[in-house]
Amino acid sequence: MSSTIDINKICEWCGKEFIAHKCTTRYCSKRCSEHAYKTLRREAHVKKENLITQEKKEDKKKPLGNYFTPRQCAVLLGIGKSSVYRCLAEGLIPCIRLKGKTHISRASIDKMFENPPEYIKRERKEAEPIEEFYTTKEILEKFGISNSWLFKMAKERNIPKTVVRGKTLWSRKHYDKAPADKQPTEVAEEEWYSVEEVCAKFNMSKEAVYRFVSERKIWKRKDKFKVFYSRRQFDKAMGVETELESEYYTMPEVMAKYNMTRDQISHYIRAHNIPRTYEGRYVKIDRKALDALFAPPKLG
Ligand SMILES: [Zn+2]
Repeated sequence: MSSTIDINKICEWCGKEFIAHKCTTRYCSKRCSEHAYKTLRREAHVKKENLITQEKKEDKKKPLGNYFTPRQCAVLLGIGKSSVYRCLAEGLIPCIRLKGKTHISRASIDKMFENPPEYIKRERKEAEPIEEFYTTKEILEKFGISNSWLFKMAKERNIPKTVVRGKTLWSRKHYDKAPADKQPTEVAEEEWYSVEEVCAKFNMSKEAVYRFVSERKIWKRKDKFKVFYSRRQFDKAMGVETELESEYYTMPEVMAKYNMTRDQISHYIRAHNIPRTYEGRYVKIDRKALDALFAPPKLG
């Protein structure tokens, strides 16, 4: 139901005159109302922060006498403030509240140490043997990720691996448990789609993209305010080939593709002088030259 009354009003944010349809309208536009709201929020936040700083200052000024605030108690015991509050709530540390302020006496803390409960050594859990594994190929197929990503991720998350007859095997349990929404910190740009790219390439609306990625659980990466989606996973879900022919291989990629050890590969690229560049600890190996070297023999 729309109102038919017109009221002349002055916007409380920009000062412009405008026509309102309700007495309670205070701003000329959504924009002005949002500005006003944000400013109010910000002011409240600044006020709160200032108050906290003031409190901290006062706490510092107070000489450490026989009574502490929870904050001072935390410093004294070398634990976090929230831990102190938990102890207070559990009755582990006795305290009293006077006019809204919590006081803890030095004597009561000293007393805690006079009759301490018996120290119980924590039992160490016996590590279960790892018996189920993924091969590198299985992971790449199942999760639609690249070789370099797999090796980086495994390293960052300490996924146990072993090499059997030249094949790398990854602990299945550990890999499945690794949070999928967190990617390694170092990822290649071309591995990711922005929302706009997806919209353009697959002729989808933004809403459709958001729905699709949440349904298919496509991995995403947030970069400040932008969201990116795993290109390999997205392409796989759409049933198209990922065109990600980069000009170089990383070492883990070669190790997985040609099933060789790092030393063997290093030997080959040195012996055949395969073009390569070094970036920090990483080596980028020329894809064409290496593929040509390992290409199956041909006659004629
Ligand atoms: Zn306005």
